[in-house]
Amino acid sequence: MCRHLAWFGAPRSVASLVLDADHGLLTQSWAPRRQAHGTVNADGWGIGLHPEGGGAAARWRSDKPIWSDTNLASMAPHLVAGRVIAAVRSATEGMPADATAAAPFLHDGWLVSHNGRVDRAAVGPSLDAESACDAALLAARVVAAGPGRVGATLHDIADADPAARLNLLLLSRDQLFATRWGDTLFVRHDDDGVLVASEPDGSTGWEEVPDRHLVTVTAAGVRVAPLTSG
Ligand code: GLN
Repeated sequence: MCRHLAWFGAPRSVASLVLDADHGLLTQSWAPRRQAHGTVNADGWGIGLHPEGGGAAARWRSDKPIWSDTNLASMAPHLVAGRVIAAVRSATEGMPADATAAAPFLHDGWLVSHNGRVDRAAVGPSLDAESACDAALLAARVVAAGPGRVGATLHDIADADPAARLNLLLLSRDQLFATRWGDTLFVRHDDDGVLVASEPDGSTGWEEVPDRHLVTVTAAGVRVAPLTSG
C-alpha cells in the first residue's frame, strides 16, 4: 500500500525530505523495502505543509507517479517548512483514481494521510470527505472525532472491520500524531526534529514503532504509547 512520512521540527526542504535521501520516499514509490501490501506506489502522490509565514496549509497532489512529475525536482528545494507531510499512493482496489483521493487530506487545519485499507461501511458516510476513497472518509471521521481521540476512533472502526489497516499521519502546526495499525512505521529523532515514515530511508537512527501504537510529537518532544480505546 502507500508509503508516507511526516516531519515535525526545524524548517527543511521538501527536496531533502522526499527526493534526496537514499531509499527515501521517491525511491519507495517504485522500490519499497518494507511494504507488505502492493508492490509499487504509482497511483498518485501528495505533499502538504504548514507555511513558515503562517496561514492555511498548502497542498500539491497528483494522480500520476511521483517519478513522472516534471516540476517537482526544481520546485522541491524551495518548499521549506518545519511541518511537512508527503505520501505516494498505491490505490486500493475499487477506490477512485483521481487526485482528490490522494493524501494529504485537509480538515480543520489537519493534514492527514492514510496507509492501509478499511471497509467504507465501517467508517461511515461523511459529507466532509474530499473523495469517496476509504482514506478520505477515514481522514474526515478522525478529524471530526478529534485527533486527540484517534485511539478511540480507530478501535471503534476496527471493531466494525477487524481486518482494517489503519496507519495514519495527522499533522497540525502544533502536533503530529502517527499511528501504526497493520502496516509498518518507523521514527527517527535528531536535534532538528522528528521524522516518522512507513519505512526507513538509508540513514541511521531509525526505531520501529510497535503495532497498535501511537507516536505523538509536540514542541515538548516525542512519545510512543499503545493506542488505547479510552
Ligand atoms: N486505501 C487507500 C487508498 O486507496 C490507501 C492505500 C494505501 O495505503 N496504499 O488510497
